[in-house]
Amino acid sequence: MRLRYEDGNLSDVWNGRTLSGTPEVAKSTRDGVGRNAHRATFRLIVSRVYTGLRGVCSECQGYVDGKIHIGDVQPEYYHFHGDCGRCGFQTEFPVGVAVLSHPGVISFFAERGTDVRSVPFWTLDFCTPRCETELSTNPLRLRVDVKRDGETLSLTLNRDGSVVSTERSRDS
Ligand SMILES: [Zn+2]
Repeated sequence: MRLRYEDGNLSDVWNGRTLSGTPEVAKSTRDGVGRNAHRATFRLIVSRVYTGLRGVCSECQGYVDGKIHIGDVQPEYYHFHGDCGRCGFQTEFPVGVAVLSHPGVISFFAERGTDVRSVPFWTLDFCTPRCETELSTNPLRLRVDVKRDGETLSLTLNRDGSVVSTERSRDS
């Protein structure tokens, strides 16, 4: 993951938008403590993702109106976008990130001896932009394929970023 730090703000690698600075991230980034910066950034982003998905703002605990949509970034791709009605904080992440806390994904990785919640998700292929498959647009259904060791866990998401079905298959 490539982050840019400038004037107390971190910009993310996916769309160049500002993640907004926090003292924790800003300090560790400024001090050049790579590993700590990495951990702090990871914790920060994960907490924003999980709270955003639950409809809660990570900055002010206000209500977040979050949906998967396409557009407003170039090139266009599906992504989760949340807007806080109280403080205006905006959160955005690739579609695959929305499945990280799903029990099926956690157990899929656990079976292989990995706690997926401790893996920086920007290193996971299914969390990169444009890795999802569009199944239908009305209603919106997107499929994310998590592949490990010749096995695939396919998760179908709706517009809210909720998983509506899962399926496992072995590569033939
Ligand atoms: Zn807020």
